[in-house]
Amino acid sequence: PFDVLIVGGGPAGAAAAIYAARKGIRTGIAAERFGGQVLDTMAIENFVSVQHTEGPKLAAHLESHVRQYDVDIMNLQRATALVPATEVGGLHRVTLENGATLSGRTVILSPGARWRQMGVPGEDAYKNKGVAYCPHCDGPLFKGKRVAVIGGGNSGVEAAIDLAGIVAHVTLIEYDADLRADAVLQRKLASLPNVRIVTSALTTEVTGDGERVTGLTYRDRNHDTLHEVALEGVFVQIGLVPNTEWLGDALALSPRGEIEIDHRGHTSRPGIFAAGDATTEPFKQIVVAMGAGSTAALAAFDHLIRLAPE
Ligand code: FAD
Repeated sequence: PFDVLIVGGGPAGAAAAIYAARKGIRTGIAAERFGGQVLDTMAIENFVSVQHTEGPKLAAHLESHVRQYDVDIMNLQRATALVPATEVGGLHRVTLENGATLSGRTVILSPGARWRQMGVPGEDAYKNKGVAYCPHCDGPLFKGKRVAVIGGGNSGVEAAIDLAGIVAHVTLIEYDADLRADAVLQRKLASLPNVRIVTSALTTEVTGDGERVTGLTYRDRNHDTLHEVALEGVFVQIGLVPNTEWLGDALALSPRGEIEIDHRGHTSRPGIFAAGDATTEPFKQIVVAMGAGSTAALAAFDHLIRLAPE
């Protein structure tokens, strides 16, 4: 068995692996796709101390840093179940899709999350070419330009307020007849001069010139008419889904499916820790996930040194 078995090889899992391995304990990391969401992004300009990098480059650095240590990297392995130990100090088991079972005296879960997509023509084709999912990350790339935010929940309205301070104009598009964000956010949004709110609207297509986004089309659901909006960017804010379906009821999840953790990365099960976008940590960012991964590894080490010797 591993002393620390990590599931997920994004920024959180990589940081956890480095911190665990540096304690000289047996560390393994299983990942469906080492690198995680970082692989899907191009410009990264908020990875503190690195002014500019690209996702695939950062992912390669994550992996080469982990490989500096004696860590068992099991890439392209998808976990399908977690069976927590029945007693404190017992082994936790993780089943893989290929039928193998891994076990750990502690487990760190860092399976990350995925942005819910609209699933309309043009969305995939123009990803990173005008279609974006993270206003904290990509907002400044649209300075002085026109953008749309899709989704009128808290994240959509927060994104629209945030972007309105950077870009020239924001069109917020909501499917329902009303926005669902908190009233205080809606009031703030309504006070901004460069925001237009469109409700009862279904986005049907992202359009472009082959290189970059040039607009979007939405259907007015009340009048069944199509409308075009000329713009340079589309921020999709219809939900971030944690990759936790496979955990079933093995540990406590929030109503949104996020793994409940405390400030040391403890989950509801002793000896099982979690970090990154899959958890209740409110801010989903690379540096935040790395900090959480190191926290979880140090907490796992703390847990191990208190267990009876093997
Ligand atoms: P992830 O990166 O999601 O990694 C999860 C890992 O778990 C992956 O290895 C995955 O394959 C694995 N996994 C999932 N399920 C299983 C399973 N069942 N079994 C085994 N392995 C599994 N953040 C910034 O700070 N700056 C940016 O500029 C930025 N830009 C972004 C642009 C885009 C397009 C996207 C999508 C995100 C961006 N982010 C950015 C957010 C950032 O990528 C995430 O906050 C960060 O990657 C979260 O790290 P994580 O380790 O928690 O999860």
